[in-house]
Amino acid sequence: MKLMPGVHLIETMAQCALLTDDRLVLVDTAYTAGAPDVFAYLKEVGYKPTDIGSIVITHVHPDHVSGLAGLVEASEAEVASHRIEAEFISKRKNYPGGRVLPHDAVDVDVLLEDGGRYQELTVIHAPGHTPGNIALLDESRGLLIAGDSMKTEGGQIGPMVDRNNIDPAEHRDSMKKIAGFEFEALIVGHGEPMTSGARDRLREAVAKL
Ligand SMILES: [Zn+2]
Repeated sequence: MKLMPGVHLIETMAQCALLTDDRLVLVDTAYTAGAPDVFAYLKEVGYKPTDIGSIVITHVHPDHVSGLAGLVEASEAEVASHRIEAEFISKRKNYPGGRVLPHDAVDVDVLLEDGGRYQELTVIHAPGHTPGNIALLDESRGLLIAGDSMKTEGGQIGPMVDRNNIDPAEHRDSMKKIAGFEFEALIVGHGEPMTSGARDRLREAVAKL
């Protein structure tokens, strides 16, 4: 679905965001190896895989990274992630705690840092869900692409289920950190998007954590 001008939400098990300005930027790549749902969506809205210039991975969980290898092969897009998460995406390091990562390893081209800028987005390191989890802030649109930095299932902003958080307390601290930024609209991996009032609702949610 088109959320706002230049911003699409690709509804898969974990939602992907697609930004379509003068560049095509895909955030996250869905659960299924080969990413058939992403390819189908691109076709539906009139793009070719080779139109994708960049793919940003918010974190290494399978429902966000499994489609990456197939998308890179078809698009030759540049891959970006937080520096810490890049080691798990490329499988140069094992994920802490022994969780096996089923995705095909992909080298990350651009290593992101907290507060850095990439493709006109500000990178917010939001650890706790995973060590190198990030959210992306599009200031020009007042849009936060949160990945699994929070969820909105049931229409409520809240933390992810703790069995999926590597550090539940840090995950909540990261939600508080994100609540300090300015935005109106919100896209998450799990739950409905919001087009207005999202930051205020996040502030209300973190006040109860
Ligand atoms: Zn996740």
